Amino acid sequence: MSTPHELPTPTPLIAHHSADFWAATSEERFLVGHCHACDQWFWPPNRSFCPRCGGAAGLREAAGTGTIYSYTIVRVSGAIALGGEAYKDAVPYVLAYVELAEGPTMLTNIVGVDPDGVTIGLPVRVEFSRTGGPQDPALPRFRPASPLSDRPVEPPGHGTTPAVGHRVTPIFCKVRRRACSA
Ligand SMILES: [Zn+2]
Repeated sequence: MSTPHELPTPTPLIAHHSADFWAATSEERFLVGHCHACDQWFWPPNRSFCPRCGGAAGLREAAGTGTIYSYTIVRVSGAIALGGEAYKDAVPYVLAYVELAEGPTMLTNIVGVDPDGVTIGLPVRVEFSRTGGPQDPALPRFRPASPLSDRPVEPPGHGTTPAVGHRVTPIFCKVRRRACSA
């Protein structure tokens, strides 16, 4: 068991091309890149053309739901911890790829849960960590969509529960999807 810590809320660097995205987070709206021409959703959202058809693209509000595609638990304290100096006292915390309901996968944190209770395939929902300041942009993070105690317990290797081996090297699942899903 690991005790979940409160994650820091560093103010994001807001550039011209990401201003609309961050402005929406201050209203707790979660926007994802979307192409109207071919209905392709994409992440990161800060591009003006579609990665599939090259057409004009913009931002569209997403459901804010998804499932954990892959994750790792960061346990190393100090400046070398992922996320930098601001996160050095936050360990252990979860860094995860969340596959959004619309299709894209994004790198984010999983909060509100014991890191050791996180599993691949866990349904999650976005929440916003306010950063303060005049614009008060918020960091989109994810927490389990329902309390873990409400979830049915399945034996390993059955249903959607990932095999133990998936968890040993979860960070590689992103680039070795075929092997991970075997
Ligand atoms: Zn397109």
